[in-house]
Amino acid sequence: MNHERSRELYDRALSVMPGGVNSSVRAAPRPYPFFVERGDGAHVVDADGNRYLDYAMGYGPLLLGHDMPESVQSAVQSYASAGPMYGAPTEVEVDLAEFVARHVPSVEMIRFVNSGTEATVSAVRLARGYTGNDKVVVMQGGYHGAQETTLVEGEPGHVHPSTNGIPESFAEHTVPVPFNDHEAITEVFEEHGDEIACVLTEPILGNNGIVLPVEGYHEHLRDLCDDHDALLVFDEVITGFRVGGLGCAQSRFGVTPDVTTFGKIVGGGFPVGAIGGKTEILEHFTPAGDVFQSGTFSGHPVTMAAGLATLEFCAEEDVYDHVNALGDRLREGLTEVVADRAPEYTVVGTDSMFKVVFTRADSGPQSECCAAGCTQDAACERFGECPKNGADVGNAETDRWERLFWPAMKEEGVFLTPNQFESQFVSYAHTEADIDRTIEAYERCL
Ligand code: PMP
Repeated sequence: MNHERSRELYDRALSVMPGGVNSSVRAAPRPYPFFVERGDGAHVVDADGNRYLDYAMGYGPLLLGHDMPESVQSAVQSYASAGPMYGAPTEVEVDLAEFVARHVPSVEMIRFVNSGTEATVSAVRLARGYTGNDKVVVMQGGYHGAQETTLVEGEPGHVHPSTNGIPESFAEHTVPVPFNDHEAITEVFEEHGDEIACVLTEPILGNNGIVLPVEGYHEHLRDLCDDHDALLVFDEVITGFRVGGLGCAQSRFGVTPDVTTFGKIVGGGFPVGAIGGKTEILEHFTPAGDVFQSGTFSGHPVTMAAGLATLEFCAEEDVYDHVNALGDRLREGLTEVVADRAPEYTVVGTDSMFKVVFTRADSGPQSECCAAGCTQDAACERFGECPKNGADVGNAETDRWERLFWPAMKEEGVFLTPNQFESQFVSYAHTEADIDRTIEAYERCL
């Protein structure tokens, strides 16, 4: 493959943008990222005309693939041509809010914002404002965007910001615990129960391999929060409108959080975030309440129209059946390939999420993990030991993935997320033939 034009563009970009990109992870492919010219169904075409079968799918928003259905296109075009935004409310915001409230168990009210980060920042402020407490419990290996409260590392009692630029004192209020560890979080509540504003967790860790909850874990979080008047906040920025269909992962797991954050799919491919939850809690946001929250672009009509038309399409068509069946086919095929070529690796995922993690956990039998959520995932059930927390995934052979595997898959014309941690996604535009081709490419590259 020729990558001359991408190389030139990256060279120009390095002079005018830090690291040559507008989001850190995009610079990860070595020696330089390919620059995309356009999307086409399940493919992207780069600036040199190379075509890739795409499993990054914009890091999650593009459930339907790169071609917007007719209904989404016409909604986007009509709202864009009516003047893109006004700084005054519009009907389409109400329509999308009603749609989400109808389908997602925890949502009675919702506030739309512009990114997943903005959603989790606002959710944390809401939880602190509502409870009057400061401490936020998060999962090691979880990710909630580029926000001060959650960019931490360490163990309870020894927590530090995970990046320069955040005062040490901010991390004092954040308590990271290992995912799926009943005892660790019980101890945190025993010690700090009356200081905790919320437990903030992804229902499935989606930025750290893909880690499913063990049986009873979310129920345990629910009970702890109820017993201590803390809020349970599910960050469904990735899982929302993907895992468990329109009811999201909370409907799959049967645990209803107090507050849910959304992003990605709910904006139909345009910048979005949202905070949903019980009326009694959401009405603490200004102007109804006294927790300040505001944004020039929030509830942007083009985004709202794209999100609504996308979710309506999902409600009317066989979107979830299609992507989940392809997900199963892919995980099953990869499980056979991995058993044969790299038995020390693990195939993880559920619904339309998948990844081959270059490690294997030994922290418990597979049956425990499969009891919650991935029971229908034949590939996973057969496979043995999935990672149970961030530390398990942290043992992955990241160099082998980044230096050898990812570039080889790219040369096969398959675009994967460029590190060991970010989930990959099957879209409505993928076909069985695409999946079979992908399994063959994995086989050759492994
Ligand atoms: N929460 C989760 C679970 C995410 O995966 C992400 C981004 N991938 C975010 C929050 C932040 O979203 P954004 O990048 O839109 O700010």
